Amino acid sequence: MGEVRLKVDLVPKGTHGRRVVRPMSPRYITIHSTQNWTADASRHSLALKRGALRAPKRRGGNRIGYLIWHFTVDDRVAIQHLPTSEQGEHADFDGPGNRYSIGIEMCEHRGSNRAATVERTAKLAAVLMKKHGIPLKNVVPHYHWPRRGASPPNKNCPHFLLDNGRPGAKWRAFRGRVNYHYRRLG
Ligand SMILES: [Zn+2]
Repeated sequence: MGEVRLKVDLVPKGTHGRRVVRPMSPRYITIHSTQNWTADASRHSLALKRGALRAPKRRGGNRIGYLIWHFTVDDRVAIQHLPTSEQGEHADFDGPGNRYSIGIEMCEHRGSNRAATVERTAKLAAVLMKKHGIPLKNVVPHYHWPRRGASPPNKNCPHFLLDNGRPGAKWRAFRGRVNYHYRRLG
């Protein structure tokens, strides 16, 4: 994954978002953006390893009291926090988005190069498609997964790849980039 510049820096097994190991066989890739204007990928990695990203645990909602996902991408690197064989907590509580998808967060801190972040994310998604046999149609925005009890149920995420809060031309262009990189992998 030379071009992706993937760095593996996992949350230690048995701690925080990995206290309970929930096996997963990934069928989808879910794309998010952090909506955090100050933190790059390494800051997110540190926060996850320290257990700083808490969420209220409740029946039908967050299952573990923490947020966790698989990869964070910025304009320089991609960092892996969680093995793709374990479920994250990033999409739709106890729904299929968490049970079957690899979660990728794109950074959007001030001063970062968004085009570079999006392109690195497209490359990473292509590599993961190849590795896990995931079809392009299963590369979805967070919006794809309704969150029971949330308003609106379909989140405007990743907001800068949606049009008026929904998948449109920008999302199609992103999928085009994923497909381009997928084909190049041969
Ligand atoms: Zn999201």
